[in-house]
Amino acid sequence: MPLLAYPGRPTTLGDLPIWRALPARGRRMIGPWCFLDRYGPLSFTDAKPMDVAPHPHIGIQTVSWLLEGEIVHRDSLGFEAPLRAGGVNVMTSGRGIAHSEETPRRNGGRLDGVQLWVALPDAHRNGEPGLEHRKEVPVVEHRGGLARLFTPRTHFSPMIGADLEVHARATMTLPLDASFEHGLYLLAGDAAIDDELLAINTLYDLGTARSELAIRSRDGARLLLIGGAPFGERVLMWWNFVARTPEEIAAARTAWQEEQERFGVVRGYDGPRIPAPALVKFAPANPAS
Ligand code: MN
Repeated sequence: MPLLAYPGRPTTLGDLPIWRALPARGRRMIGPWCFLDRYGPLSFTDAKPMDVAPHPHIGIQTVSWLLEGEIVHRDSLGFEAPLRAGGVNVMTSGRGIAHSEETPRRNGGRLDGVQLWVALPDAHRNGEPGLEHRKEVPVVEHRGGLARLFTPRTHFSPMIGADLEVHARATMTLPLDASFEHGLYLLAGDAAIDDELLAINTLYDLGTARSELAIRSRDGARLLLIGGAPFGERVLMWWNFVARTPEEIAAARTAWQEEQERFGVVRGYDGPRIPAPALVKFAPANPAS
């Protein structure tokens, strides 16, 4: 049976072309992972491809992971965290934080990466904000390839996040937690699983109950592996907010628009903050769907 495939939808983040693979129609989450944007690979000279002005988040962790290039994160806790390939920035929003992410003035003219969000379970989603900046993540060798593990060190539900590098003319095999649901996303190169050739920038639902993954490649490949225990809570996503009710979304929007203390102030970004879009009326919550 072919794998369920969710092609990333082409859109833009400012001037930056992206593919958005989560949330997908018919697939809102993989474990706690609720958002997946891919950008690049791209070359630039004098432009600033990543330029996301200060904006707020609630209810999530953001995970920024690069394959190439560099970005700078600044947040309302006062952190300034330059990120390069091989490292990871994990920002825990808790009840509220604001941040900016941009291409630094000094750069190598290349950019390739992903931004993911992890939904926080109810018991932790109104907790303290924080930033985890790591210059390097653990790299684990498997038969046929390498796994770079960017799972947040501080996480709030069982989960995994990895960048898999499959060697050329090899089959990479690695164990999976069979209690997790998993998704696989081809970033570069060529890869096949279960004799099915994967398309680039497409999220494949591997389902649950898999205890091993075997990925075959001819010329080599990079893939994202995301997974976790089925989340079990129904989340409501609007703009940069992940909550449970329309009232919570509306309150967060008001706090941002009125520049209340909840989100603080991002210093060091040269330009105005991003205003929240107009609030549309939510469909009535239907816990059965
Ligand atoms: Mn953000």
